[in-house]
Amino acid sequence: MSTGPSHDALDPAGSRRVAAVFLDRDGTLIEERELIERPDQVVILPGVAGAIRALRAAGYRIVVVTNQSAISRGRLDPDRLEAVHRALGDALRALGAPLDAIYFSPDPPDPDAEATKPSARRKPGAGMLLQAAAEHGLCLERSFMIGDQPRDALAGRRAGCRGSLLVRTGRAPLPADAAERADGIFDDLSGAVRFVLAQGEPAGD
Ligand SMILES: [Mg+2]
Repeated sequence: MSTGPSHDALDPAGSRRVAAVFLDRDGTLIEERELIERPDQVVILPGVAGAIRALRAAGYRIVVVTNQSAISRGRLDPDRLEAVHRALGDALRALGAPLDAIYFSPDPPDPDAEATKPSARRKPGAGMLLQAAAEHGLCLERSFMIGDQPRDALAGRRAGCRGSLLVRTGRAPLPADAAERADGIFDDLSGAVRFVLAQGEPAGD
């Protein structure tokens, strides 16, 4: 499931001392579209590379967690998704903002499972975050989740993250009760990252 560009910098799994910021993909890192199936459709949102650079400088790992139900619905070939993610990783690395890993859920929406299985892979399930934590020795209690939909924030809360934040750069407006479902709402990733950094250094080393 992980298509991370490089895991070289990660501490050995099991140390569980490393903090991460989990980032949603569409509407948070890149412009949201109906279906992104080609590298040329990847458009990084303004300020994203700088925000990631700042998080990395503060010691956070950067892990993308994205729902990609188009795969289970037969609308997106996994090889195409891999090419898109390689392009995203390459583009950010070229901007000095490499990603540590990308996790995706191919699973279809399932309201019943989302209500009864908080650890489901698909957000609002916490499965991708839990898997990343296990595979990369991440400390969830010191980590943050940032996305553009309430289900992103819920996934962060279910995973036990220190904070779950929302940004307004997605296509869909946030629902009226979004403020109750997140620990903060910001205009864009830069704003959310300023909040993360204001909380102090990620604990651990
Ligand atoms: Mg999104």
